[in-house]
Amino acid sequence: MWQYYKLFDMEMPFAEAYKIKMVESIYKSSRQEREQWIKSVNYNLFGLKREQVFIDLLTDSGTGAMSDRQWAEMMLGDESYAGASSFYKMKAAIQDVLGFEYFLPTHQGRAAENVLFSVLIKEGDIIPGNSHFDTTKGHIEFRKATAVDCTIDEAFDTTLLHPFKGNVDPEKLETILKTKGDKIPFIIITVTCNSSGGQPVSIENLKMVRHLADKYGKLVVFDSARFAENAYFIKLREKGYEHKTIREIVLEMFACSDVMTMSAKKDAIVNMGGFIAMRSKELHSKASVFNIMFEGYITYGGMSGRDMNALAQGLYEGTEFSYLETRIRQVEYLGKRLIDFGIPLQQPTGGHAVFVDAKRFLEHLPKEEFQAQTLAVELYREAGVRGVEIGAVLADRDPVTRENRFPALELMRLAIPRRTYTNNHMDVVAVALKNIYDRRETIRKGLKITTEAPIMRHFTAAFDLV
Ligand SMILES: *Cc1c(COP(=O)(O)O)cnc(C)c1O
Repeated sequence: MWQYYKLFDMEMPFAEAYKIKMVESIYKSSRQEREQWIKSVNYNLFGLKREQVFIDLLTDSGTGAMSDRQWAEMMLGDESYAGASSFYKMKAAIQDVLGFEYFLPTHQGRAAENVLFSVLIKEGDIIPGNSHFDTTKGHIEFRKATAVDCTIDEAFDTTLLHPFKGNVDPEKLETILKTKGDKIPFIIITVTCNSSGGQPVSIENLKMVRHLADKYGKLVVFDSARFAENAYFIKLREKGYEHKTIREIVLEMFACSDVMTMSAKKDAIVNMGGFIAMRSKELHSKASVFNIMFEGYITYGGMSGRDMNALAQGLYEGTEFSYLETRIRQVEYLGKRLIDFGIPLQQPTGGHAVFVDAKRFLEHLPKEEFQAQTLAVELYREAGVRGVEIGAVLADRDPVTRENRFPALELMRLAIPRRTYTNNHMDVVAVALKNIYDRRETIRKGLKITTEAPIMRHFTAAFDLV
């Protein structure tokens, strides 16, 4: 009997803040099947069918599991064309959780960028920020404008333990504001910073950006897909925030911005949806014109009423500490296992994904053979795990010279869908990567691109063995 009492003296093991009500089968394929499948899609993991993937860590975008309450909200969706109650539910949640008065629904994050940038960006403009996300950069360059990365240098050293690798370097930002100010319509800050490894930005840094923006009279736009994960890191890592709630931190973060774009497929835990939110009524009315042209009438954008309801509910659930703790500790768990095996990672691990440093993993391969893509293909062959390349393929060619761009980091991202897999799945991923790491010297050849699209080539590029 006393043993039971003793249990309470021990530190309790950590467990998920939810239980499972519905499950979905996944198929464990053979290596032989996978060899054939990956070749048939020209070594591009985007080409694989869902049935051909055992553990899918391609993205955490729209792949999470909605809660019982979100599904209940789906049933209450109002599908009125104009003035649906679902629109007002979403409006109330955005006001409540994020603090913005005006908003426009869009079908996803890039659609929000398309609408907003149609108002704000013209040819020749310069948009400074912290490692712009690929669709953001795509929408900037499509308008013949330039994205300038002002991320701190520490972000590009994967071995360096820095609590806020998403931070903006104040000197880099002020230099560009001083020298190119007339060409800068706004500063864009990505929270968390996806391209540099799901790394957070501190409140102190956000306040610095706000200060410089005010000094030079610029707008601040937050690219907000993972704003709640950013707030979690602030709570854990920034002095003075440990006793604040996630919601308080979120409001303090957004107080540093004028406008936000949101891919709700991330931290609002829905399968599809997005929005733009702003404080300016004038910007809202200008953006409404483009929203109607590209997305749909202003009270639904590209969204169904039911999806707006689920999104509103998701904003509340996504900013609960217990949910965020469960999520981010799972990412950390996978990271820890890999580190124990000696596998090189972006450290500390980010909010939504583990980023394996492919440049160091496959250091004997030249960068022209796309180390991260090669590693992602190898991991699929090994265990049916689908990750994604965040490196030279994603970086595209320079729009002017058409040369391949080789970014500072060559990463394979393993993005963890929200509330979807267990830590047993994480163990499979970790052991599969260890097996590859142990025989990495035997991987003598990488990949070459045989066909590619002119922009955002990573989705459709075809590869062949070198
Ligand atoms: C996913 C994402 C986007 C684009 O959103 P979609 O919903 O995929 O169109 C933009 N910015 C960041 C930081 C993202 O993570």
